[in-house]
Amino acid sequence: MIEISAALELIDSNVNSLPAEECPCIDTVGRTLAADILADVDSPPYAKSIMDGFAVRAEEIAADKRFRIIETIVAGDVPKQEVVPGTCSRIMTGAPLPDGADAVVMIEKSHVDSTDDGEFAKFDLETLSAGRHTMPRAESFGTGELIFSAGHCIRPWDVGLLAEVGASKVPVAAVPTAAVLSTGNELVDCSERPGASQIRNSNGPMLVSMLNAAGVQTVNLGIGRDDPEDLRTKIQVGLQSDLLLLSGGVSAGMLDLVPSILQELGCEQVFHKVRMKPGKPIWFGLRSANNKPTYVFGLPGNPVSSLVGFRIFVRAALQKLSGLTAGMSEMFEARLTEPHETRGDRPTYWPGCLVEDKNGTRQVRPLRWLGSSDLRTLGYADVLIRFPAESTKHDAGQTVNVIQL
Ligand code: AMP
Ligand code: MG
Repeated sequence: MIEISAALELIDSNVNSLPAEECPCIDTVGRTLAADILADVDSPPYAKSIMDGFAVRAEEIAADKRFRIIETIVAGDVPKQEVVPGTCSRIMTGAPLPDGADAVVMIEKSHVDSTDDGEFAKFDLETLSAGRHTMPRAESFGTGELIFSAGHCIRPWDVGLLAEVGASKVPVAAVPTAAVLSTGNELVDCSERPGASQIRNSNGPMLVSMLNAAGVQTVNLGIGRDDPEDLRTKIQVGLQSDLLLLSGGVSAGMLDLVPSILQELGCEQVFHKVRMKPGKPIWFGLRSANNKPTYVFGLPGNPVSSLVGFRIFVRAALQKLSGLTAGMSEMFEARLTEPHETRGDRPTYWPGCLVEDKNGTRQVRPLRWLGSSDLRTLGYADVLIRFPAESTKHDAGQTVNVIQL
């Protein structure tokens, strides 16, 4: 039996990251950036008008002064005329500011006279400050500036910025493939009514959903019986994926056949049993066939054991597969709202709810929980509290470590 930290280190050192892929930016929502993205242009790329109106020399503005309109510049035009004293150019939003001009008067403050001698503008303004209604070149960002760092998870609006900086093909972490096999003679599919001594397979749908939520393409292999032949056939299918998750059959019972069948099929054990509660019997190993490894987790059958094993260890493996370091990231501290007692000498993950006290300080309330088969309580939980092994009595107000589910 090994410690949680040792198990995580073994996952980190045994799992190889999948090579990054290039993906059209329009298909990257939910994917993780595999490299930093730098701007390849200035934004805006030129000093521009942010109003429809007239480009002027600000210092010249005075009540009743007339300006000859020398040019009309729409977005997409390159200005040809310099705005010299006594002149202005008609300009539309987004168009480049012409040489000589340093501000824009909005159209609502302008009057135009058409004469035989050309067009003239007058403005309802006494003064105008330089820069008004314009945006200087590179005010938002400059060429070479860091836009997103590797590891950033791309959201829909990020795609606009990726497009702006020319990241039409984006380096993203590869999406692993996974298979899920739920083992147990007592299991029936969730569409069925369990007979005497049967229960529905809740782990299978839960694990598939957790993988899907992590963006992993997942095959559901359904139920495998506690029978060597059935397990062999189904595990062999699962070994085609990058990751195979099994539930059940990894503890010390008569029909806990999973570790021996995995080894028979060429999977090398990295660890079996971790000092933790729930989830102690977890098995982790890998099979390397044709240089394409499959990482295998045998999760204990009780649903909350499977859930905790996934949250702590499978997620770490997924992080490493996508090129990040597998660590106990995202752990934070909160104070207990009430005293709590744990049993035994293993670090214990306990379902809890985050609450805020009157002062807005983050607190966590341990839920009333019946143990690893009690999935119902997890319906009310948003975090797992990690109680240390060293003590069983935990006081109200004590600081504990917490991870988001
Ligand atoms: P095992 O790890 O196979 O010894 O299973 C431990 C406990 O978890 C037993 O009570 C099983 O009935 C239960 N169990 C195993 N697999 C599942 C599953 N897929 N869904 C719900 N409960 C399960
Ligand atoms: Mg079983």
